[in-house]
Amino acid sequence: MLTEFGKLYVVATPIGNLADMSFRAVEVLKKVDLIAAEDTRHVKILLQHYGITNKLVSLHQYNEDKASAVLLEKLREGQSIALVSDAGTPLLSDPGMPLVKLVKDAGLDVVPIPGACALIAALSAAGLPVTQFSFEGFLPRTSSARKAFFNERLLSPKTWVFYESCHRILASLQDMAEILPLDREIVIARELTKLHETIVKTSLGEALELVEQNDNMRKGEFVVIVDGAVVDKKEQIITTDQEKLLQVLLRECSIKTAVAMAVEITGVRKKLLYQAALEMDKAKDA
Ligand code: SAM
Repeated sequence: MLTEFGKLYVVATPIGNLADMSFRAVEVLKKVDLIAAEDTRHVKILLQHYGITNKLVSLHQYNEDKASAVLLEKLREGQSIALVSDAGTPLLSDPGMPLVKLVKDAGLDVVPIPGACALIAALSAAGLPVTQFSFEGFLPRTSSARKAFFNERLLSPKTWVFYESCHRILASLQDMAEILPLDREIVIARELTKLHETIVKTSLGEALELVEQNDNMRKGEFVVIVDGAVVDKKEQIITTDQEKLLQVLLRECSIKTAVAMAVEITGVRKKLLYQAALEMDKAKDA
């Protein structure tokens, strides 16, 4: 019978400020038989802070398939288990998915203990639409893959959100600025709940300048939120790459030929490219 089995509790922990721990999370971590943690040394700091002395086992991205099978057996034996990650809500760009799936598929109970999550914290204070948003996790590591990723989202009307590290925040914004219009609104939420928490809402162009010029804006942990494309503006958008292509073609051919070639290469509507070509031609004579 289901009630004889143990339960798996998925417990959110703070993303910086240790006070962001719910009473229920502390209670659960005290009462379970076992805590499965991404990094047992890391979670000990939190457990010590709350006087929790419980048994720990590790469950991280390199052992989670094997460890999940062992944990399922323990649940079947009636033990209760709490799953925690290094920070925030497990499974959100963190380990835990295989375990939760296995336990659900086995028909056992999985109980969420909600709390901190960088994605939700950032969205709640960003001032960008949240009715519909898309969470993208971490971006691809290579510049070309990131640009392809930005291209795919260029016209998405939804707000989109991604996680970024201090090592790649500048490169990601530089790539984004090559694809998205520089006046697109973005929010950079850095070091949330910590001493140097910074939440900046500005245009992509200004955000890039800020991160380029201010060393502190390249330190810590980041959530980046990008406003969706305004539907009415859809028709008016051509990317910086497409603009560059058109410029090169215009150097070599007439407006008509350059536009025709650009349409064939990019698939962008002729009217839009023609308008852009006329403006470039005018600017050349000015
Ligand atoms: N599971 C976590 C959650 O619920 O937010 C996320 C874990 S993921 C491995 C770590 C990434 O989340 C960081 O690289 C950063 O992008 C984001 N993040 C975590 N804590 C943050 C914070 N205090 N401020 C801003 N971003 C944070």
